[in-house]
Amino acid sequence: MNPIGPRACYDEGKRCAETLFFDYRRQHGLPIKVVRIFNTYGPRMHPNDGRVVSNFIVAALQGNPISIYGDGGQTRSFCYCDDLVDAMIRMMETDEDVIGPINIGNPSEITILQLAETILRLTGSKSKLERHPLPQDDPMQRCPDITRARAALDWQPHTGLEDGLKETIGYFRKLLQL
Ligand code: UDP
Repeated sequence: MNPIGPRACYDEGKRCAETLFFDYRRQHGLPIKVVRIFNTYGPRMHPNDGRVVSNFIVAALQGNPISIYGDGGQTRSFCYCDDLVDAMIRMMETDEDVIGPINIGNPSEITILQLAETILRLTGSKSKLERHPLPQDDPMQRCPDITRARAALDWQPHTGLEDGLKETIGYFRKLLQL
C-alpha cells in the first residue's frame, strides 16, 4: 500500500476507519461489526461515478469509446449489490461476538478486457476499445477470500456477472433514455 499516492486517501481512510472502530470497542465497549466491501455494482450507480462497470456501460450505450486503462489484463471480481446487501444484513444479525473483519465480495475474477467485451456483447454496442495509461497504484488483481463470510454468515454471492450486468444495463438504458 502506498501511503502517500493519489489513492492513499481512499486506501488509508478505510484502514484508519477500521482502526478507530476497534479502538472504540476496546475503550468504550462499543458493539461493532466490520465488513470489507470489494468491488460492487448494480442499478442506481451514478453514471459519472468513474467506476469501471458504470463507465463501460454508459460508454457502450452512448456509442462512445470504452476506455481501457493499461492493457486490460488486470483482474477484478464484481459483486452484485443485492448479494452485498444480503451479506451485510446477515452480518448485522450475527451474535455480538462476531466482529470481523469479514470480506464481502464475489470471488469470481475477470479481466477488465473481458468485462469490456461482455458489456459490448450484452448491450449490442459497436463502441471501440480505446487504450489509456494505467492510473498510478492501480492494483493488478483484487479478489476477496470469502472463507470467513461463508463460515460466519453462511453466505456466498448468487448473482452471476451476466445476470447482474443485464439488470445494470437496463437501469442505465432507462436513466439515460437510450
Ligand atoms: N478501469 C478502466 N476503465 C475505466 C475505469 C476503470 O480500465 O473507465 C480499470 C481501472 O484501471 C481498474 C479497474 O478498471 O484496473 C477497476 O476500476 P474501479 O475504479 O472500478 O475499481 P478499483 O480500481 O477501485 O478496484
